[in-house]
Amino acid sequence: MRTIPYFINNERVEGAGDLLVFNPATGDVNAHVPIADARLVDDVVAIARTAANSWRNSTLSQRTNVLFTLRQLLVEHADELAALITQEHGKTIADAKGELARGLENVEYACGLTEHMKGEFSSQVADGVDVHSIREPVGVVAAITPFNFPIMVPLWMTANAIATGNAVILKPSERDPSVSVRLGEFLREAGLPSGVFNVIHGNADTVNRLLEHPGIDAVSFVGSTPVARHVYLTGTAHGKRVQALGGAKNHMVVLPDADLDIAADAAINAGFGSAGERCMAISVVVAVGDIADELIDRITDRLDRLTVGPGDDPNSDFGPVITKEHRDRVVGYVTSAPSDGITVVRDGTSWADKPGFFVGPCLLDGVEPGMKAYDDEIFGPVLGVSRVATYADAVSMVNANQYGNGVALFTRDGNAARLFSREVSVGMIGINVPIPVPISAYSFGGWKNSLFGHSHIYGPEGFAFYTRAKVVTTRWPQPSESQIDLGFPTTR
Ligand code: NAD
Repeated sequence: MRTIPYFINNERVEGAGDLLVFNPATGDVNAHVPIADARLVDDVVAIARTAANSWRNSTLSQRTNVLFTLRQLLVEHADELAALITQEHGKTIADAKGELARGLENVEYACGLTEHMKGEFSSQVADGVDVHSIREPVGVVAAITPFNFPIMVPLWMTANAIATGNAVILKPSERDPSVSVRLGEFLREAGLPSGVFNVIHGNADTVNRLLEHPGIDAVSFVGSTPVARHVYLTGTAHGKRVQALGGAKNHMVVLPDADLDIAADAAINAGFGSAGERCMAISVVVAVGDIADELIDRITDRLDRLTVGPGDDPNSDFGPVITKEHRDRVVGYVTSAPSDGITVVRDGTSWADKPGFFVGPCLLDGVEPGMKAYDDEIFGPVLGVSRVATYADAVSMVNANQYGNGVALFTRDGNAARLFSREVSVGMIGINVPIPVPISAYSFGGWKNSLFGHSHIYGPEGFAFYTRAKVVTTRWPQPSESQIDLGFPTTR
């Protein structure tokens, strides 16, 4: 049985086979993965620190070259990477390639580092005085990532952290860590010096060691809300800057004037794509006014045409969920729904009897705040429908929710759309766009319990997060200007 190695100092490093990595489509063990203990974490931090000290002095063109070549290697190996993702995550090959494409955008953005790293210059702010600003790397970045985007989320962090002159220690999800090791190998091939990018595997103990380690300067985390909160509180208590992106419950509000076919398409695509295991998945459709019955009919019509199956079968629309435990948890929300007064319109839970970790598409009607199926992030192929009377009720519902990652509005009314984007307390808003993941030139991040820390991830905020500002005030006085003046310096 294969044991997935660490990637340290530009080498594959073998470890023990502590944890099991499954193929979710069959339920079989696919590989083992080690857990980095405190000693290994300390060693890798020391390696990364040394590397960071020299990488911070690399030229901008040297960094750009590495990132350009990385992009090329990722494109050339897209089939291999997608197959690896499907094997360990379960998503379809097409979805894996989509994830890679969105990750590549971040490499492309990082390739523009000479533009993004430009400082500012003000001439003659006082007589004979100029001011300029520069941004320097923070040092060593710990990147801790979730299972659901095994290549995209590591690229959100890695590309920008390396571009800004930092060293990175990536701790990918222990469920699907293989592609992270390949990422290390591509970076090595692209010319990245030893120790600048490292991959360690592990569990909560491994993460906690990183969070408490004095040799780590910044932490980028993406995962569930309880862990994001913990990472933020622990990391900041140890003096690090932390951006910790958490879970979600994304609403799709459909106004009575919306095109219901387009809305139903969107609900299916965004609710069931990747088996609902996307942080930007739609999990609640909020039907405003009297459109709910008609909308549910159109959604069920489409849902009945979905094909569930292994991710490597080109006919599959979506694959299994990540683990047996997660499958059982998802099924539990559906089986307990009627006791909350919810109508189960479509019940895909019988898929749980088959080999692998499958759940078929489930549709729940009458899902409301206060019910578990509404309050919790289910993270599976379960779409809820809430019925509200007015636009104002829909906005109140969205704003009262503990999460604020994404939200979508379906309407033909431009004024309502404008109002909505100003009124909702959510970080990423789609107007007739159900999965509004920003392109890499805009930063990604939610509000409320979907993000701890003030910095959104990637794009301009990513560059800011991985760098520290300096401002230099310069004067070249002539000997004739020598004088003693104890007054506070002014610009007047
Ligand atoms: P998770 O929180 O279980 O794990 C994320 C990472 O944290 C993993 O590397 C894991 O090893 C580590 N970890 C787990 N428990 C820990 C603990 N107690 N202490 C320290 N580290 C710990 O998340 P997951 O199940 O891998 O991913 C799914 C979750 O991630 C969902 O909630 C989803 O919404 C969220 N997510 C959010 C975004 C976003 O951008 N907001 C993007 C993708 C996924």
